Amino acid sequence: MIKTIKSVDFKGKSVIMRVDFNVPMKDAVIQDDTRITAAIPTIKYILANGARTLTLMSHLGDPAKDAESARAKAEKDGKTFNLGKYIAGKHRMAPIASHLQKKLGKTAPVVFAGESGCYNKKAFIDSQKPGTVIMLENTRFHKEETAKDAKDRDKLAKALAAYGDIFVNDAFGTAHRDHASTASIAKFAPVSVAGFLMEKEIKYLEPVVTNPVKPLVAVIGGAKVSSKIAVLESLLKNSSALVIGGGMAYTFLKAQGKKIGKSLVENDQIDTAKKILAAAAQASVEIVLPVDHIGAEKFDPAAKPVAIASPNIPDRLMGMDVGPKTRALYKKVLAKAKTIVWNGPVGVFEFDSFSKGTEELAKLVAAATSKGILTVVGGGDSVAAVNKFKLSSKMSHVSTGGGASLELLEGKKLPGIEVTRGRDRFIAGNWKMHMTRCEAANLAKALVKQLKSGKHKYMAAPSFTALETAGEIFKGSNILLGAQNCAAEEQGAHTGEVSVLQLKDLGVKVIILGHSERRHVYKEDDTLINKKVKLALKHGFEVILCVGETLDEREKKKVEAVCKRQTEKGLAGVTAEELSRVTLAYEPVWAIGTGKTATPEDAEAVHKFIRSVIEKLYGNPAAKQIVIQYGGSVKADNAAKLMSMEDIDGALVGGASLKSETFTPIAKFD
Ligand code: ADP
Ligand code: MG
Repeated sequence: MIKTIKSVDFKGKSVIMRVDFNVPMKDAVIQDDTRITAAIPTIKYILANGARTLTLMSHLGDPAKDAESARAKAEKDGKTFNLGKYIAGKHRMAPIASHLQKKLGKTAPVVFAGESGCYNKKAFIDSQKPGTVIMLENTRFHKEETAKDAKDRDKLAKALAAYGDIFVNDAFGTAHRDHASTASIAKFAPVSVAGFLMEKEIKYLEPVVTNPVKPLVAVIGGAKVSSKIAVLESLLKNSSALVIGGGMAYTFLKAQGKKIGKSLVENDQIDTAKKILAAAAQASVEIVLPVDHIGAEKFDPAAKPVAIASPNIPDRLMGMDVGPKTRALYKKVLAKAKTIVWNGPVGVFEFDSFSKGTEELAKLVAAATSKGILTVVGGGDSVAAVNKFKLSSKMSHVSTGGGASLELLEGKKLPGIEVTRGRDRFIAGNWKMHMTRCEAANLAKALVKQLKSGKHKYMAAPSFTALETAGEIFKGSNILLGAQNCAAEEQGAHTGEVSVLQLKDLGVKVIILGHSERRHVYKEDDTLINKKVKLALKHGFEVILCVGETLDEREKKKVEAVCKRQTEKGLAGVTAEELSRVTLAYEPVWAIGTGKTATPEDAEAVHKFIRSVIEKLYGNPAAKQIVIQYGGSVKADNAAKLMSMEDIDGALVGGASLKSETFTPIAKFD
C-alpha cells in the first residue's frame, strides 16, 4: 500500500514536494496550466495542516537537450539563435511561481528561489515566513537530476532532501523516471509519501492490471505496435475483449493476411502481432480489429476521406480511421464491459476528416461511464483526443501522465511510486507442536472466514503433519501456508528432517527459521540457520528469520550485540534480490510463553536497531522496505499499540494464534 499525505502530521514541518509542472511554455507564457491546477489540492492540504514551509520542485522541459534541437532548427532555417532568450522563454520556473501565486491567491505567498539552481537553498527556505510556498528552479538544469549513475543522482537528491522533514511526491507524470527529485531523494528523506494526484492515479490505474472489475474491455490504439506490446500483453491477462485500433491495427491485419494498402505498418512486428493473436485465442480473449476503414491517398489533413467497406484496403489507399461498421462493432463490444480501459486513439484524430472513429469511441466510453461502468483513459494522445471532444469530465478517470500511465498499465513498478510504498503489515501465526489434522482444519476454516475481509498479509504455520490439510483449506484465500522449520539439506539420509522440496510440494510459501526454540532447545547455531535460510530462498520461499536475546543476555546488556550477530550471520550470502523475500521477527526469548512482554517502546528501540543493521548491510531503501515482526507474546490487547510503533510492521504470534478468537483480533488490530 502506498503511504499518502493523509498518514503524516505536517504541523510545523518543512516539506519538499515533487510536482509535475512540466507545462507547455511559449515566450515565458504558460500555454496550458492543467498540470499546475492538478497539484493545487495537495498544496492546499499541506498548507492547511500547518506545514512551516512547502518547497516545490519540478522539471520544465529538458534545457540542454531542447536548446540543442532549437539551435539546430534555427541554424537550418537560417535564423539566429539566442540561448539566453530561448531558456528564459521555455525552461525557467519564475513564470510558474507567479502563475501559482495567482492560483493560490491569499492561501499562501509563493516565492521563487532564484535562477542559481537547486543547491544551497536551505537558508533561503528557513528564512521564509511560516506558511510560505517556495518554488525551486527547474531541476533539469542539473545534470545529476537524470544521471545514469546513482551516485551522481544521490548528490542532488541529498541536497533536495535537506529542504524537508517530509518528502511528498505528487508528480505522477514523471513517476516512471528514476531521477534525483522523483526517486533518489527518498533515500535521504525521513518520510516519503504520495500526494492526492498520485494517489488518485494509482487508485484507478493499478486495479485495471491487478484486479479489475470484470468483464474488462481494453481498447488499445495509437501509432505503433512496438510501443504497445507490453501493454497488450499485460491487459490480455484480465480482459474479455481487446480492441485494437489506430495505426497499429494494420500490422495486425497484415499478420492475418489482409491487404493493408499504403497503411502504416511495422513489418518487423508481424511476428509479435501473430504471437499476441495466438495468446488471445489461447486465453479466449476476443480480438476486435477494424472491419472497415476510412482511407486516404496521402497522410494529410486536407486529404479526401474515402470509405472502404471491407477489411481489405486497396493498394493506392492508407487506413486513417475506422469505418461505420467498426464503430457499430465498438458499441456492441463495450456494452459487455464492467471496466473499460482505453489507451491510444483509433484513428488520426488530429485531422478532422479522420477523427470520427475516435470521437465515437470517446462518446461510447462516456456513455458507459454514465451507466456506472468504470472507465479509465491513459496516454498522452488519447487524453488529448478526449479533451478535444470535451468529454474528459465524463470519464471515471483521465490520467495526467502519458508515459507513466502506460507503464502502470504494463504492470511495471514505477520508481516514483515505489518510494512512497509503505511496508506490508504481516501477521503470522506459529501453531508449533499443537493440534491434530482435524483440529488444524477447523482452525484453518475459521481463519479463512474471519480474515477474508482483513487487509494485511497473513500466514499460518501448522505442524508438518497438518500442512497438507491446512494448505487445501488456505488455497485461494489470503492466508499463506507456512512451515515452522526445514532441513539444511535438500534431501538424503537425514532421519526425522523435512526438506524444502517436500514443503514446496505441499504448497508451503513461507518458512520460519531460527525460532528461539530451534536455537535454544534444539541448539541450532547461526551457521546452520544461515544454511537453511539460503536453501529456502534458493527454492523461492519467503523466509521469516527470527532473532532475539535471552533473559541472561538482556540482563548483561547484550541485546544489540546478539540481534546484530544473528541478523548478520543469518543473512550471510543473501543477495539484495533475495532479501525482498525475507521478513525478520524480533523475539525477546524471555517474553515467549512466559506472558511477559517488552514495552512497546523497548521493542521499538530494538526494531529500529535491527533496521539499522539491515541498512548497513543492504542500504537504505532495503532497510525501509524490510518487514520486521514482533514476536514476544503479542495479544489482542497489546497488538494495536505495538503495531503503532514506527518500526514494528507485524507480528509473529505463538500462543494466541491457536484459536481464531484470539488470532483474528490481532490480525485485524486496526
Ligand atoms: P497515446 O499517446 O494515447 O498512448 P500513441 O502515441 O500511441 O497514443 O498514438 C497516437 C498517434 O497515433 C496519434 O498521433 C494518431 O494520429 C496516430 N494514429 C492513429 N491512427 C493512425 C493511423 N491509422 N495511421 C497513422 N497514425 C495513426
Ligand atoms: Mg503519444
